[in-house]
Amino acid sequence: MNYQANSARYESMSYRRSGKSGVLLPAISLGLWKNFGGEVPFEQSRKMVLRAFDLGITHFDLANNYGPPYGSAEETFGHILKKDLLPYRDELLISTKAGYDMWPGPYGNWGSRKYLIASLDQSLKRMGLEYVDIFYSHRPDPHTPLEETMGALDYAVRSGKALYAGISNYRPEEAKEAISILRRLGTPCLVHQPRYSMIDRWIEDGLLDLLHEEGVGSIAFSPLGRGRLTNKYVLKLEAEESRSSELRLFTELSNFAGNRGQTLSQLALSWVLREGGVTSAIIGASHVSQIEENMQVLSQPPLTSEELTELDSILSH
Ligand code: NDP
Repeated sequence: MNYQANSARYESMSYRRSGKSGVLLPAISLGLWKNFGGEVPFEQSRKMVLRAFDLGITHFDLANNYGPPYGSAEETFGHILKKDLLPYRDELLISTKAGYDMWPGPYGNWGSRKYLIASLDQSLKRMGLEYVDIFYSHRPDPHTPLEETMGALDYAVRSGKALYAGISNYRPEEAKEAISILRRLGTPCLVHQPRYSMIDRWIEDGLLDLLHEEGVGSIAFSPLGRGRLTNKYVLKLEAEESRSSELRLFTELSNFAGNRGQTLSQLALSWVLREGGVTSAIIGASHVSQIEENMQVLSQPPLTSEELTELDSILSH
């Protein structure tokens, strides 16, 4: 049956400006790192992507090697586009990346222009797209001049293969330089994609401030700690009769969430999206119900400063 997008799809999502750009990111984005590869039944992946879009999730995050096998998440997404979403192409923000291991030999990894441009061409082919909205350098390459890597992003944009450039996993000093090179080239950095969650706060040590000063957006990956900041994980620890400090911490967090009418995953998302946090959170999911549960955070009350202080104290011991 032909897919018809939900006409109420823009009613519950909030859209937040990526730095000082013209682009609004949905507060919650969907990542296709896991659960969308060739080993997952196509219908399962399709249901999640379409439900996400129906809930106002306009941004889908991919990379060349998402699968397994490598490339297969882009193929799955390409099939969903072809079958259902191409009529909505202009309502979608699709990203891909290159920077990690993709194909054998010296040109299938890291940050050379040779690798990045060939990889982007392959990604476009797999997804059946003429362009992606954001093309990322997936990680800094200590052995390639940053000018070369950023030059490849600039070229990707100038050649029309991507609309915007982004960086991922860059530390503050690397990010500062990358942002400045891109600005000089005339292709401003749209967004930085770092790992960030209640249990992994490294970006508070300089990166968030830098991005704010530079007018670059931020989009957190693994905001649920790769699935640990969820009630499901607490139940698993309990079932294992774990006596670890992890169980104590997660139980406390889950009780805190419960007292404010949230599940642990919802609390984790309220926290990364708090005032002063990131522009968007990229969640992963294996079931439609997880996306639905996580989306409810948008109608829940934001964390107060007293609650944030209390959480800091829970997280610090
Ligand atoms: P999360 O921290 O959001 O973890 C996602 C996992 O949490 C899901 O697969 C699912 O686990 C579980 N989950 C989600 N919602 C719920 C819920 N409501 N209840 C119970 N369990 C839930 O993110 P990921 O680590 O998966 O990363 C998200 C995205 O970020 C990736 O898809 C990718 O796009 C991007 N990313 C980018 C990286 C980079 O280097 N730039 C690196 C890693 C990720 P289960 O599958 O077990 O059900």
